[in-house]
Amino acid sequence: RWVYMNGDYVRKEEAVVSIFDHGFLYGDGIFEGIRVYEGNVFKLREHLKRLYESAQSILLKIPYTMEEIEQAVVEAVRKNNLRNAYIRLVVSRGKGELCLDPDKCSNPQVIIIVDQVKMWPKEMYENGLKIVTVPTRRNVPDALNPKIKSLNYLNNILVKIEANQAGVGEALTLNTDGYVAEGSGDNIFIVKRGVLYTPPSYVGALEGITRQVIIELARELGYTVKEEPFTRHDVFVADEVFLTGTAAEVISVVNVDSRVIGDGKPGPITLQLLEEFRKRVTVDGVQ
Ligand code: PLP
Repeated sequence: RWVYMNGDYVRKEEAVVSIFDHGFLYGDGIFEGIRVYEGNVFKLREHLKRLYESAQSILLKIPYTMEEIEQAVVEAVRKNNLRNAYIRLVVSRGKGELCLDPDKCSNPQVIIIVDQVKMWPKEMYENGLKIVTVPTRRNVPDALNPKIKSLNYLNNILVKIEANQAGVGEALTLNTDGYVAEGSGDNIFIVKRGVLYTPPSYVGALEGITRQVIIELARELGYTVKEEPFTRHDVFVADEVFLTGTAAEVISVVNVDSRVIGDGKPGPITLQLLEEFRKRVTVDGVQ
């Protein structure tokens, strides 16, 4: 495997960053997770737009144009010779001094890792996930605004730890007003009487690329989709619940905080969306 580092290719085993990189010292940086399906990089432009918006928000100047990064991603995929892959694109503030000041960091590090995809096991898609809500809240302060896909993922990691401790694979986090926000690394949808609901990002959710694809896909299929805040209660009494994300795609949730959702099996709309989503991923990408 080859890792792209600021224009050069380095072997995976030899790809290292400085301990003085502010990405390491302070979580000062941003990232994207992107999929490659049959040689096509799925929704690359949308991922790059989100990357540049995250950068703009934290005043991080990416030292390449969007077109240059786009080319670099496509080339990195080609060089690694993988038809189906997961890409981790990272931009850190770079090497600096032992103080917070980003002005002391002159060279942002742009890193592209291309690796195998790690998805949920097949049975999980067939049987659905059991999840819980956790005490860690998703907040919307300036720097940790969930719209910024920053390297500062401690909040999400706490959610994941709490999921692990509860013996389940994923957990939901609420915002400080008690509205459902998202999972540790995925967005949530609920279905009630044929209508789909997903929290608006201002509740405290990342504007997921998969979430957007699913909103558009569901509307094309004739469903009404509403971006509206909802509570745990709405999740408990939903007909269907599912999560969306680059790695997970669309995965059903059949049990939340020990409440069985619907009839306890993945619902028909969830399964239809997963099937349609998988039909599109190979045709809707950059080659
Ligand atoms: N929410 C969080 C916190 C995430 O890290 C991710 C993963 O990127 C998502 C949601 C899903 O977003 P996407 O569909 O763009 O992968």
